[in-house]
Amino acid sequence: MSKENEKKEGSELMEKIVSLCKRRGFIFPGSEIYGGLAGTWDWGHFGLALKNNVKASWWKKFVDSRRDMYGIDAAILMRQEVWQATGHAEHFADPMVECDKCHKRFRADQIEDKVKCADCGGKLSEARQFNMMFQTKVGASEDSSSISYLRPETAQGVFVNFKNTVDAFHPKLPFGMAQIGKAFRNEITPRDFIFRQREFEQMEIEYFVRPEDWERYFEFFKDEMFEWIEEIGIDMTKVHDIEIAAEDRAHYSSRTVDFEFEYPFGQKELFGLAYRSDFDLKTHKLDYIDEENSKKIIPHVIEPSFGLDRAVLALLTSAYAEDEKDGEVRSYLKFKPSMAPVICAVSPLLKNKPELVEYANTKVFAPLKAEFGRVAWDDNGNIGKRYRRQDEIGTPFCIVVDFETLTDNEVTVRDRDTGAQERVKVEALKDYIKNRLV
Ligand code: ATP
Repeated sequence: MSKENEKKEGSELMEKIVSLCKRRGFIFPGSEIYGGLAGTWDWGHFGLALKNNVKASWWKKFVDSRRDMYGIDAAILMRQEVWQATGHAEHFADPMVECDKCHKRFRADQIEDKVKCADCGGKLSEARQFNMMFQTKVGASEDSSSISYLRPETAQGVFVNFKNTVDAFHPKLPFGMAQIGKAFRNEITPRDFIFRQREFEQMEIEYFVRPEDWERYFEFFKDEMFEWIEEIGIDMTKVHDIEIAAEDRAHYSSRTVDFEFEYPFGQKELFGLAYRSDFDLKTHKLDYIDEENSKKIIPHVIEPSFGLDRAVLALLTSAYAEDEKDGEVRSYLKFKPSMAPVICAVSPLLKNKPELVEYANTKVFAPLKAEFGRVAWDDNGNIGKRYRRQDEIGTPFCIVVDFETLTDNEVTVRDRDTGAQERVKVEALKDYIKNRLV
């Protein structure tokens, strides 16, 4: 396929995904009723469920199933000295150019024509550095001592709590600290749906090791990252690990591997793995006393860094599928059942038959809801319409209570991907679903 056609196909696919996300209550444009706020998105019920499932799976793998991880939930606002010490106040910037005619601003390293404005043909300025941190003031005072920033990465919230964590838990090296939370960057050109936003969520680990062990743990976390990416259902054929050259690495990193994903708009960064050496602990004048020999050392840091929103976007694009039946195109999201926002939907065949509604509600919906939580009641429109709706939400199982159910206590369970239907005993439903909740 030509580059041109590939681009066109990619943008059509993105349009479909963005529209499905809005229509089905996954993700809405931020501040939409006032015209929108670029780079912000609001999460609806199903998007939030998906995001929570991704977070839970991450926390389980990287924190709860290990003995050497400590969670932290640090404040977003920190003293400005944190960002001065790390160099963010001075260097956390992207190169920006401005058009002398329409005054639109672009990220200099992301445009093909460095001379002419892509929008109006005007002349572009020389590139200058634009700091991406959102500045704010803390308290009522207006002087410069009240300046603070919305954190541009969650990592520093971990480092400033290194000493507290060591003092509270006395961990032995190697050990890690993990955090999930919001980060803010005043991106020059937010774009590509939730890929590049001004407010987003990160899931980060700072793993502290003896300096001589860094390579071993770098490789270990690289494998762990691949494993988790596959576990949640991202299409592995579209994931690539790329060694980043020294001149392209962030100022704190001595080695970086980027995990890139083939999004519909091109192959771009999904997650990153960095070897931060002793940069941060040194910066904050922190160290660690080795309990075995009472010697002071500065541990080195391996940082697996995950963008939660990019994980969701990669999941959505991996799951989006279309097929055709009887001349009608159906779109659906083939999430792994364990990741799906709704595990199963329960329907009475007809909503104006009280005996069906009563049975479906008390004998099927209520017990499944109590067991799995993410269970929907759907009696809107005819069965075909309900299936289409649940397919678009990505619900793996649709359960229908019909007149036969009243006598044989069996329901119809329809599979989202194949459309195949089977009769299952009501008393066996929980196990049926549990066995398929991979
Ligand atoms: P990029 O090169 O795409 O700007 P980055 O290298 O600056 O990303 P990091 O500083 O390594 O990103 O941040 C860690 C992770 O946070 C990224 O791998 C990505 O998943 C996520 N991330 C970074 N910036 C954004 C953003 N503007 N919107 C959504 N997610 C982001």
